[in-house]
Amino acid sequence: MSLSLKCPICGQSLEVLPSKSAKSGKDFIQLKCPVDARHIRAFIHDRDFVESVISGHAAIQATSGEKVN
Ligand SMILES: [Zn+2]
Repeated sequence: MSLSLKCPICGQSLEVLPSKSAKSGKDFIQLKCPVDARHIRAFIHDRDFVESVISGHAAIQATSGEKVN
């Protein structure tokens, strides 16, 4: 599975960050512009979709040590 979502401001490919809510413990996906998060930042909470994307992006999850707020 490949996502090729581009930032509408600068045209960079958006980062796909599998995340977990500290409050509810639910998984969600954060999409944000790698250049400037003010360009675009989006959150996807649909459970089935999130799980499919997270399983397809295990490599991203493993290499991203960045803490997501
Ligand atoms: Zn941008």
